[in-house]
Amino acid sequence: MSNITKDLAMFNELVEVLITEEAAHPVAERIEANKLYDVLDLSLNTGEMIDDEFKAVLREVLVSTPKTATNLFFNQLFGGRQSKAVLGDLLAVLLNNSMYTYKVAGPQVGIEQEIIRQSCNLIGYGAASNGTFPTGGSMSNYMALLMGRDAKDPECRLDGMTKPLIIYTSKEAHYSNDKNASFAGIGRKNMRYIATDSKGRMLANALAAQVIEDIADGGIPTYVNATAGTTVLGAFDPIDAIADITEKYGMWLHVDGAYCGSVIFSEDYKHLVTGVERSNSFSYNAHKMLGTPLTCSILLVNDKKHLHDSFSNDADYLYQTDGDDFNLGKTSFQCGRRNDALKFWTLWKSVGTNGLKDIVDQQFNLADIALAYIRSNPEYTLYSFDDSISVCFNYKDIEPMALCTALYEHQITVVGFGSFEADTFVRLVTINANNEAVDILNFFQVLEGFVAKTPHLEKVAALPV
Ligand SMILES: *Cc1c(COP(=O)(O)O)cnc(C)c1O
Repeated sequence: MSNITKDLAMFNELVEVLITEEAAHPVAERIEANKLYDVLDLSLNTGEMIDDEFKAVLREVLVSTPKTATNLFFNQLFGGRQSKAVLGDLLAVLLNNSMYTYKVAGPQVGIEQEIIRQSCNLIGYGAASNGTFPTGGSMSNYMALLMGRDAKDPECRLDGMTKPLIIYTSKEAHYSNDKNASFAGIGRKNMRYIATDSKGRMLANALAAQVIEDIADGGIPTYVNATAGTTVLGAFDPIDAIADITEKYGMWLHVDGAYCGSVIFSEDYKHLVTGVERSNSFSYNAHKMLGTPLTCSILLVNDKKHLHDSFSNDADYLYQTDGDDFNLGKTSFQCGRRNDALKFWTLWKSVGTNGLKDIVDQQFNLADIALAYIRSNPEYTLYSFDDSISVCFNYKDIEPMALCTALYEHQITVVGFGSFEADTFVRLVTINANNEAVDILNFFQVLEGFVAKTPHLEKVAALPV
């Protein structure tokens, strides 16, 4: 047997262990961080290890690693497991291409381009559109910001920053915007945080007022980041109203759909991004709503010229054959680039666009079930709104941070908390489309059962104000 055949046999054994373990213990046995190195053999040693011992160590590591694919994981903006996407990602690992040239990636280039082309069609971008697969949503936002910066001030690529560029997002936007302002040389102080309405959506009027004020102060409004699915509430900024402003003042409009941009696949929910065709760039994470393995981020641009202008740096030693359209390295941030497209393509190819629609719709169905449960139960307080898969609530006035930590430490369920304005609450994210109504109701049952058995949970009212 070749090494790879032998190791894949071991892989299959370990997969069996993991799947069985997920069913038996949906929340992993938790190891206290300060005991980690005592409990598990993570040491790297000079000598080799025989396969049986090696396998035993791997088994221990698998069993005690947090489980994100089970029906009790609601902590993050990803969860579950789309098995056709897992299959694609495993194949990508075996193929081990790098996506920069056709010479090295071959048909994988076409796979990536087909996803980009279809995605551009879905959002109504025209014939000049294109895109790339950055390393994540944060990087997508960064690349969009660089294109917006360069479009406004092309000289800054040579001279560095010489002009007072100002950029905008809402108070509820992802924190990567803040970091990116510093990375891009624009500076965090030149980022304006626009107020939101009571449902967490950017106020277009407040944006317009701020832009006018900045112009009066000699600033150059350059870029707006609108969000399709804010990180806490899952709110959608009003893209059409924002596009009226960015078009009027010649600013770049980026729509950060990392969390919920995948609504573009759903007839019922794509109205939440109405106006997206007017944006200059749009990004979404297939590893969030569509359930592919991490990471799978897609950045689309309405005019591919901007991708070239900001990211191509001709390297003759690399680009020796085929045209630009097949040498994707000319429009990417990094040089060597992992194949993140194949896992999305295997999913899309196998379930069709209708299947992706069902995945998205199911998450909203599950959110509706959670909302109905909370609304019909007076012991709960609801803080989130319709058309969001982030369901935010408190139960019996229990301090949400203490509750989430206790649920985690006792391996009951993994769920997080968030804040909006003055409120802090539990945030249940119904992003695992493999879940069904019973799994959501089971979540509330295990939470209530835990609270009933745990007398000393802190109350919100008991906290100092
Ligand atoms: C998750 C998220 C990001 C960051 O994406 P990563 O892939 O984790 O870098 C950016 N914006 C929003 C709205 C997100 O929810």
